[in-house]
Amino acid sequence: MKDSNCIFCKIANGKIPSTTLYEDEDFRVILDLGPAARGHALLLPKEHFADLFELDEKTASKAMVTAKRMAARMKAALGADGFNLVQNNGEAAGQTVFHFHMHLIPRYKDDHAGISWKPGNTTPEEMAEVKRLVENQ
Ligand code: 5GP
Ligand code: ZN
Repeated sequence: MKDSNCIFCKIANGKIPSTTLYEDEDFRVILDLGPAARGHALLLPKEHFADLFELDEKTASKAMVTAKRMAARMKAALGADGFNLVQNNGEAAGQTVFHFHMHLIPRYKDDHAGISWKPGNTTPEEMAEVKRLVENQ
């Protein structure tokens, strides 16, 4: 399914031009217009899934394999020192475009991409509670 109001459906299916690094029948990998670091790319399925929770397992599997292959190619081609795979779901998690995508972000020793979080605190009780809730879901 494609969503006629979705910009990433249009880009993934070639209706809006993009700088494409890779394309196959299911995915397009494009350069992000607001890169966190040089070569920051987005892996987009050609079908519309709003987020990870809508994604079917076959597409999810293929997305990870494609991301792994692209990461290796991009790291070698761009001389990156490291690599982040980032994938946001929901406004609370920083998602701004509601068509599933994976960020492929080459990292360099002195870049300022700043993809990090401040480590918080937890307790054995909280960890046990989280474990119980997830295991019983
Ligand atoms: P999110 O915040 O949803 O995880 O990521 C959305 C990403 O899409 C951002 O990194 C943003 O720079 C990128 N983006 C938004 N609109 C466009 C566009 O029209 N073309 C491209 N290439 N990237 C876009
Ligand atoms: Zn879409």
